[in-house]
Amino acid sequence: MRITDMGVIPVAHREPPLRNSWGAHTELAARTVVRLTTADGEVGVAETYGDDAVIGALERARGQVEGMNPYDRRALELRLQDPMAYGAIDTAIVDLLGRETGQPACEIIGGRVRDRVEFSGYLFYKYADSDPDTAAIAPEEVGSPEAMVEEARQFVDHGGFRVLKLKGGVLPPEEELETLDLLAEEFPDAPLRIDPNGTWSVETAIRIARRLRDSDLHVQFLEDPVPTMHAHSRLKDQVDFPVATNMYVVEFDEIAPAVEADAVDVILSDHHYWGGMSGNLRLDTVARAFDLGVGMHSNSHLGISMAAMTHVAAAMPTLRYACDSHYPWMADDVVTDPLEFEDGHVEVPDDPGLGIEIDEGELERMHQRYREEETLAYSSVESMAAEYADAETEVGRSDWLPNKPRW
Ligand code: MG
Repeated sequence: MRITDMGVIPVAHREPPLRNSWGAHTELAARTVVRLTTADGEVGVAETYGDDAVIGALERARGQVEGMNPYDRRALELRLQDPMAYGAIDTAIVDLLGRETGQPACEIIGGRVRDRVEFSGYLFYKYADSDPDTAAIAPEEVGSPEAMVEEARQFVDHGGFRVLKLKGGVLPPEEELETLDLLAEEFPDAPLRIDPNGTWSVETAIRIARRLRDSDLHVQFLEDPVPTMHAHSRLKDQVDFPVATNMYVVEFDEIAPAVEADAVDVILSDHHYWGGMSGNLRLDTVARAFDLGVGMHSNSHLGISMAAMTHVAAAMPTLRYACDSHYPWMADDVVTDPLEFEDGHVEVPDDPGLGIEIDEGELERMHQRYREEETLAYSSVESMAAEYADAETEVGRSDWLPNKPRW
């Protein structure tokens, strides 16, 4: 079996104006669909980030992918030395091998340890959607603790989520703590999380962690409360409260220093940049060896990534936290039958490969929309900071800078 063609197809998808510490999500953002085809016409797909750097890395990898035997993927990983580009190719190969052998993707990567994967309800402060009729969920502005409780209600009604994660770093810490208090009142059985994306100083984080430790709130962990690995180490030295990260341990070389500094309790995995579904499973094993917890990080994504996240989570024995996903927020998709949340869980698909089919019409329409946009990126700090500065200009803060810590 040989891969004869590698398609790299950027698409533009609509996003709600969700806020985080860098700013607000732009109305359109980019993702990239990777499609591998064999000489026999078998196909495998994956989805990854849509930044120019990622697209460029995938284009540069094409010469090594076309002509390869898909079972040779470890050699390809070594040659590329690029976990992000390899991650998309690895996932597409897993889909390809699954379709070829009639097996679900989770069986191709080692076998499932669970049939359902739990996801958290991922709550964001946000601006109002410009077109509320096309919003997938919660179109109104959410800028206060009270409004967040209403958003959470919509989330729980939508997918039955049991765990609630609050994207923080937007309002002053005391208001975000008040938000957690109100969420706990409204959803007394829900484990909570908050992710301020490194906007708190060590002193602020110590104060908040002590308060959480001494309260009745069930907060599973603080996610990236402070800006650096060293700051996490100082925080954990002062307060016995678990911290998780998807910002300061994002590659294998960073695990040992973080363990040595006692800077982390939970690593949030992500198959997009930990070397695909295969790399994500290696992370699960390494984390277990160091007695670290494992969860799963999310950026905006479409239905291909949703399926890949579900399959890889199904095969991760160490995973013990509900995964994060932006998927309920997305109004666009490139798959024909989106996976659905029920009781906060997604059933692992039994169909071959990732278990999804591409909606060719939507893929083409979203690709054309990408081509019509002059600059489109996602997860670029610069672009998000610029967006936030623009948004704040409207309320008179054109001098805003994305400094951290902020509080
Ligand atoms: Mg995070």
